[in-house]
Amino acid sequence: MDAIFAQATASGRAGVSIIRLSGPQSHDIASKFCNIPVIGKAVLRSVRDRGGKLIDRGLVLCFDQGASFTGEKTVEFHLHGGLATVSKLLSELSECHGCRLARPGEFTRRALDNGNLDLNQVEALSDLIDAETEAQRKQAIMVLDGHFSELGKVWKKNLLRAVALLEASIDFSDDEIPTDLHLEVRSIVEGAESSIASVLDRSVIASKIRQGFTVAIVGAPNVGKSTLLNSIAGKDVAITSATAGTTRDVIEVRINLNGLAVTFMDTAGIRDTDDDIEKLGISMSYKRSEVADIKVFLVNDDQDELVATKGKSDLIVLNKADIREVPGLAVSGKTGEGVSNLLNLISNKLLKETPTDVVAIRERQVAGLAAANTFLAKAKELLHQEPLPYELASQELYFACTQLDFVFGRIDIESVLDEIFSSFCLGK
Ligand code: GDP
Ligand code: MG
Repeated sequence: MDAIFAQATASGRAGVSIIRLSGPQSHDIASKFCNIPVIGKAVLRSVRDRGGKLIDRGLVLCFDQGASFTGEKTVEFHLHGGLATVSKLLSELSECHGCRLARPGEFTRRALDNGNLDLNQVEALSDLIDAETEAQRKQAIMVLDGHFSELGKVWKKNLLRAVALLEASIDFSDDEIPTDLHLEVRSIVEGAESSIASVLDRSVIASKIRQGFTVAIVGAPNVGKSTLLNSIAGKDVAITSATAGTTRDVIEVRINLNGLAVTFMDTAGIRDTDDDIEKLGISMSYKRSEVADIKVFLVNDDQDELVATKGKSDLIVLNKADIREVPGLAVSGKTGEGVSNLLNLISNKLLKETPTDVVAIRERQVAGLAAANTFLAKAKELLHQEPLPYELASQELYFACTQLDFVFGRIDIESVLDEIFSSFCLGK
């Protein structure tokens, strides 16, 4: 197997950049460039090209097989983070026999192949690296830390016991079967089903945390939607004007709202118009605000007719609080009055539903768990029949286990790997 190398840190100017080299021969290859230190000790070394000229001085750290991220022998070079320094060592490494630049995600792929991470942890690692907010980070680290995989192991172990109990009864004669056996099987199946269901319940919100929530500001023309968006963004992203019908596109701003990724959308004011472009903008406003997690109805008066149907999470907010006395929830995009209050209200609404324990985040996981539960529901039904169809029930449980194996990456792993690793960048 080739040794692979790549810059592990982001490319660009930096105090320190790390170049990672992994593979059975990595220690030998590294020895061509410096006197490598003992395993596990970061030591300052002169790193020289193969002609003996100094490239840089930096820390060199060797990992033994079985004790590195990839599970292979690995060497890290911590050099000064200049573009030229890094590319010099990369080009020297590429000249070495049996040594090549890693493909995107290849370090993680080797960690997976060597059993250091499972499929869910690989996805979580990708999420952790991409995490922009605290909620995203918490969610990803929980899965990376193995909590989701642990849950899978418990489900699988219990269901296998249920299968074993059913299979054993098939071999018994009728009068030998313990009478309460089906009760234990039923309780195992019900337990697994409700545990999976609770993970599934929270998966919608979990995937929102990963991808971000959306909040649409909607209302009649000139109520101050664009001004409010600019105030939330802290900069002018939308044109504001006293001329009605100024905003025609949906303008988006993504912010970190108390640890949540939230995209605020400014929309075209909703009114009757003959202007074709404005009409398009208005129809886009409707479409986008319909799928938003929260709509903020900005109004002149709380008796005003709303421009769309109000959902249970939506908020009605009075505008232009700087020029008048208004009761209730009111903001001024112009002065910023009430804006942080509005933002807190929104983040509380979103955070209230945020799960704090293990969740299924990816479509792949959700689909597999839902399929497993369909089989468990069928098994449950069979377990209530008399006489009990042991073989059929056992078969459904077996199907459920197979679905869990898809989710936890024990079977058919190849078919999903390409998709997963295509989202990784070089050096991961
Ligand atoms: P939109 O059509 O809803 O996007 O409204 P704009 O944000 O473009 O604002 C329409 C007009 O109302 C502009 O002249 C703004 O300066 C004014 N305006 C917007 N928000 C406020 C506010 O909070 N207070 C005051 N006094 N004027 C505002
Ligand atoms: Mg506007």
